Amino acid sequence: MTQPSESTSFGIVENWDRETDVVVAGYGGAGAVAAIEAHDAGADVLIVESTEQGGGNTLVSFGGFLCPTNVEDAVTYISGLFELSLSEKDDSLIRTFAEESVKNVEWVKSLRPDVEVHSYGGAGFPQVPGADSMKKYIVHGSEKGGNAFAKHLFGLLCHAVEETRGIPVMTRAPARRLVTNARGAVVGLVVEDQGNAVAVRARRAVILATGGYESDPRMLRNHVKGFPIHSLGHPGNRGDGVRMAQRVGAGLWHMNGVSCGFGLKVPEFESAFAMLFGHPAHVYVDRNGRRFVDETRIEGHAGLLAVDYYDAQALKYPRIPFYAIFDEALRSKGRISHMAGIGAAGAAYEWSRDNRDEIEKGWIIRAGTLGELARKIGVDPASLADTLDRWNRDARQGRDGQFGRSMNPDGPSACIESPPYYAVTMHPALINTQGGPRRDAEARVLDAFGEPIEGLYSAGELGSLWGLLYQGAGNIAECMVFGRIAGRNAAAETSRG
Ligand SMILES: Cc1cc2nc3c(=O)[nH]c(=O)nc-3n(C[C@H](O)[C@H](O)[C@H](O)COP(=O)(O)OP(=O)(O)OC[C@H]3O[C@@H](n4cnc5c(N)ncnc54)[C@H](O)[C@@H]3O)c2cc1C
Repeated sequence: MTQPSESTSFGIVENWDRETDVVVAGYGGAGAVAAIEAHDAGADVLIVESTEQGGGNTLVSFGGFLCPTNVEDAVTYISGLFELSLSEKDDSLIRTFAEESVKNVEWVKSLRPDVEVHSYGGAGFPQVPGADSMKKYIVHGSEKGGNAFAKHLFGLLCHAVEETRGIPVMTRAPARRLVTNARGAVVGLVVEDQGNAVAVRARRAVILATGGYESDPRMLRNHVKGFPIHSLGHPGNRGDGVRMAQRVGAGLWHMNGVSCGFGLKVPEFESAFAMLFGHPAHVYVDRNGRRFVDETRIEGHAGLLAVDYYDAQALKYPRIPFYAIFDEALRSKGRISHMAGIGAAGAAYEWSRDNRDEIEKGWIIRAGTLGELARKIGVDPASLADTLDRWNRDARQGRDGQFGRSMNPDGPSACIESPPYYAVTMHPALINTQGGPRRDAEARVLDAFGEPIEGLYSAGELGSLWGLLYQGAGNIAECMVFGRIAGRNAAAETSRG
């Protein structure tokens, strides 16, 4: 076989150990889609995946994907999200996303004749023009639990990759370095296989689909404001693709863009449990014991923006962590969070129906009085008492005088006054990061000067098109869109002889 023209610092590479047309790094949604499309375009494909089975964030997600109803309104809406958030916007990328994502349902259905998809929701920001075009879908099936739709979707993708097409997948084989030739073109990569460096030649191209850096605290600390920030997702996403692309000259973008909810982080799990309270009898208080927001109007993916305020006088993040405060009325209504079953921790743990196991473990903090609760969470008891007095008064009057939170007609049911009292320590919890190597509408990775890096493509949340404001179900849609484009274009490259 031809010799790699560059040895890497990950071991000395003397020969290619394996070769194929297109190598896809990462077997989540984007990697699977890219592999399917590259294969269908006539390329020999190999997927390399760091974990035992793959799936990544895709498999522990909710599993929703966007398929807008029309291209022009989708362009207007998505462009609006960029204009309103002042994030860096690429018009051609947005147009390509809109044009391709309207085909998502049709594409998913093409993978297996019996596939059923259902629509379930729309725009995250209905006030933005074009919002009516946003339509979200899930793949229907027989799985149960918070990750059911994700299992249906990833199961379908695996079926298409492994069974229908027989595309080989090397698991427990993390990609460590890209290999370039003398011109700087990417000609392969080095994979670690049981401690050995395996050099894989990619005759046509490499597609990076290794996900984000939700589980890389260093990268988070350097790029995303707020600390600590936990992850709801797959702990294997540690920014490998960002570093590999940087080494061959990639420019980065959208590094401060994250899709982020709130979660409870406990020592027993690497990832956090998603916390979203359905019952009205709860408030969020900061570390000073004060409410700071209309709890019900934080868009589910924009949680970080509600809590990343740094107090430069007090020299702390007063809202990280913050505390969800509730009482026996909410505790006794069933699981406190109807989202606790999604994400990596949610997939591995069955939350008790009456929350008693989690109280027993100390995950939910219980106290007989408000004063005791305040002491347990370390906030000023007088402040917390004052906050709750005011909240209960407002709830009885059906009007939130502080933040205008809408009360249902029966405002008193939002009162928090039936002991025991409870608190959950809440942190920003990433759904995923958006940043990474910049890509263009052809899914080519661009260098720091905006020029394509020969032989290198990307797809998925690694270097996503999304910036500071994110439309729910847009990431999996992006796996489909740029997975398809990257797969097609990588397969169409001429073989580097
Ligand atoms: C709780 C939760 C709910 C979500 N719900 C939705 C939703 O409903 N809709 C939506 O659009 N988005 C949702 N998201 C976000 C979405 O799941 C992800 O953005 C998307 O699935 C990312 O797909 P991907 O293929 O880019 O990355 P992933 O699916 O994370 O796949 C990346 C893969 O690369 C592997 N990998 C990492 N490093 C290496 C390496 N060095 N070498 C080889 N392999 C490597 C990883 O192990 C992983 O298998 C959710 C996320 C979470 C956590």
